[in-house]
Amino acid sequence: MKLYLGLITAAALTLAACGGESKPAQTAVPSAPAPAAEASMPASEPVIASEPMPVVASQDQVASEPVAATAGDCAVVVNSNDNMQFDTKEIAIKSSCAQFTITLKHTGKAPVAAMGHNLVIAKTADKTAVINDGMTAKAENGYLKVNDERVVAHTKMLGGGEEDSITFDTAKLKDGDFEFFCTFPGHAAMMSGKIKLVD
Ligand code: ZN
Repeated sequence: MKLYLGLITAAALTLAACGGESKPAQTAVPSAPAPAAEASMPASEPVIASEPMPVVASQDQVASEPVAATAGDCAVVVNSNDNMQFDTKEIAIKSSCAQFTITLKHTGKAPVAAMGHNLVIAKTADKTAVINDGMTAKAENGYLKVNDERVVAHTKMLGGGEEDSITFDTAKLKDGDFEFFCTFPGHAAMMSGKIKLVD
């Protein structure tokens, strides 16, 4: 009987010892395959990219794809970066679109205070005044006058890695020439483009 108990005890000790030793090994194992799994992900990306809507499929990858601008007939993606640039100088809006959506992405790394970008739509004739009033409104208001009636639509002021979408009635663009621009102080000189209504 004593021998039997001794065997059990020995077995228990052995199990305990094994359990104790195997723990570090087990924690090491899951962390090893993880990078391997990530590494295998890019391999499946080309498949996703060939689908009709790459913009929605891979938001993080869009930055490096210049063709990302088409997200459907009544929507567009505009990228901005740490070099104070939009990736387009013109946004074409089909007249058949009752509403239009613009997604602004800041693909850079700079914080909003240093290299903030927004996308503001207003008449070319109002552009300078909107920008000047935005400067007066300061960073706390995203460099835009609160409830500026001259502004058709505007995104938030974004820092690197952020994005924002706006949807507006295209009927608001029928009367006059409109532009899109960034109201961060000093940016509009480089960050401006035309809104064009097309058939
Ligand atoms: Zn800007």
